[in-house]
Amino acid sequence: SMASPALLMRVVASAYSVAEKAATIVRNVMSAGDLGIVEKAGPNDLQTKADRLVQKSICASLARKFPKVTIIGEEDLPTDDVTEELIEDGHCEEILKKPCPAQYTGIKEEELVIWVDPLDGTKEYTEGLLDHVTVLIGIAYGGKAIAGVINQPYYNYEAGADAVLGRTIWGVLGIGAFGFQLTEAPAGKHIIVTTRSHSSTLVNECISALNPDTVIRVGGAGNKIIQLIEGKASAYVFASPGCKKWDTCAPEAILHAVGGKITDIRGNSFQYNKEVKHMNSAGVLATLRNYDYYASRIPNTVKQSLVP
Ligand code: AMP
Ligand code: MG
Ligand code: MG
Repeated sequence: SMASPALLMRVVASAYSVAEKAATIVRNVMSAGDLGIVEKAGPNDLQTKADRLVQKSICASLARKFPKVTIIGEEDLPTDDVTEELIEDGHCEEILKKPCPAQYTGIKEEELVIWVDPLDGTKEYTEGLLDHVTVLIGIAYGGKAIAGVINQPYYNYEAGADAVLGRTIWGVLGIGAFGFQLTEAPAGKHIIVTTRSHSSTLVNECISALNPDTVIRVGGAGNKIIQLIEGKASAYVFASPGCKKWDTCAPEAILHAVGGKITDIRGNSFQYNKEVKHMNSAGVLATLRNYDYYASRIPNTVKQSLVP
């Protein structure tokens, strides 16, 4: 008989289904019409009923199947009131069929850390910019982002009634990333994608220094990585603190699985062990190709203003 699939592949296969359930919750909360918005640090740092329900759903569903894995979610919530209807116990068969890369076959539950952003792009969700929203489940081992799932609940929402609404992108280092068409940005053009709702003088100074042909301002870290892997943008540049480990873990795994690169604005890689500081204080620089071009043009004054 076949050996049972490696833990990592079982976790990714479950995370895939858990993220699809999450997307259903995100859409249902919006259709019901009561977002239950709470301000966290301020008016640009929001939490909705969808953020709360989805985090409960993802964390409780994964914890039930993988009780020794460390799961870190963005929202500060009581964990004792998860109703059974929030639990997803399915998995994606297609992922289980892929062989686990040799270097990950021996991973044990207690060695994995899962970083959960139940709803990335909350500000945009509350403003009706629905395709900016993603659900992020990032999987780390040895401090590195090695696998991830990004669900985009409103992918295709303006494409007409025949289009399938929503999609799930997943990836593992050494296997690749799936659920989208990998596309490079137009050669010779510098298309920068950055924050829409968390700009600052430094954020804009840094972008100007890169001489962009175009600047795309959209919400969500997950959404911005999608812009890179689908060739809509050539670099994601965010010279500011504000992004956290749950914003970058799943996007990093998927970007790295297809040969891209993400670091802070000074070129340092991110660490994802469970003890790490949550804030990515020194910003974000990510590309699918030509990382060095952008990294070499970040002004020293910008680098010195952002301390990891
Ligand atoms: P954005 O590109 O502005 O959508 O930010 C990407 C992610 O980082 C989102 O989850 C934001 O909520 C978070 N983020 C970035 N900057 C800030 C900030 N100044 N305050 C709170 N969250 C932020
Ligand atoms: Mg986020
Ligand atoms: Mg969030």
